[in-house]
Amino acid sequence: NRSPVTVIGLGAMGRALAGAFLDNGHPTTVWNRTAGKGGELAGRGATVAATVTEAITASPLTVVCVLDHRAVREVLDPVAGSLVGRTLVNLTNGTPCQARETARWAAAHGADYVDGGIMAVPPMIGRPESLVLYSGSPEAFTAHEPAFGALGTALYLGADAGRASLYDIALLSAMYGMFGGFFHAVAMVGTEKVPAAEFTPLVVSWLNAMIAGLPAMAKAVDSGDHSTADSNLEMQATAYVNLLDASRDQGVSTELVEPMRELLDRGVTAGRGGGDISALIDLLRTEPTPN
Ligand code: NDP
Repeated sequence: NRSPVTVIGLGAMGRALAGAFLDNGHPTTVWNRTAGKGGELAGRGATVAATVTEAITASPLTVVCVLDHRAVREVLDPVAGSLVGRTLVNLTNGTPCQARETARWAAAHGADYVDGGIMAVPPMIGRPESLVLYSGSPEAFTAHEPAFGALGTALYLGADAGRASLYDIALLSAMYGMFGGFFHAVAMVGTEKVPAAEFTPLVVSWLNAMIAGLPAMAKAVDSGDHSTADSNLEMQATAYVNLLDASRDQGVSTELVEPMRELLDRGVTAGRGGGDISALIDLLRTEPTPN
């Protein structure tokens, strides 16, 4: 006896979410702005709602997963009244500020609100390795935890609706940093016709070796003790110039690697040259932009 669930937004991700609910036996109602995207899901037992209101009122739980924050509000603003007494879970990618704003909006309309961040691509949804971060109403999270389990591993991060987004964005920034490094590395060897597929196993084992050092860096950040006997920041700032020179020599754009040089130089200027590179994290903090 699984509880009914509604999914709003049938892009690649929304379709995967609805499919996972269906696979777990949840009566599932779907809606999408552009009609015609629910056909396959209907074949698997989903109800395709004709209107957003019809979709929301079909279930105690509505999951919205559309392109961005603006799309969420475009879909939900006109039908806010139908959310009263129900739970809205927003799995659309957004910022912590947007999540908190939507939480206030939902509260003003009598809805319980949980925001979320999907740390997975659509084919992973429903498997344990698909991590979905949640934060917001603790009562709503607990009440619907079994349904969230259909999507993968659910991690609840507390009552602040913005926290899941903060973690999501932080994890994505780590991912894009890694992609940037990988792209630059492959472009470098590519200038001498080394196939990416031949070089990539070395990148993977090198990155794995470096990843092993992250927990020690985290400890240094938390304790403020950035002392090191191994690879000090000034040495790395000096060697980093070779990375930029070699890129130019080989004919590879330095746009992905230039920012790290600026930060390394700033670290040396700030007198952190004798310490570990982890000291750079302290230099990244700026005043938040008021909004
Ligand atoms: P798609 O581009 O496949 O789908 C976008 C969806 O948003 C469509 O259903 C589209 O409707 C809808 N949409 C866009 N603008 C509006 C609007 N103004 N009003 C109503 N509906 C609108 O994106 P995904 O499904 O891949 O992504 C959805 C969310 O999931 C995004 O926030 C994304 O960042 C997040 N996400 C995606 C991942 C992925 O790998 N795909 C991974 C993790 C998170 P229509 O069909 O009418 O255009």
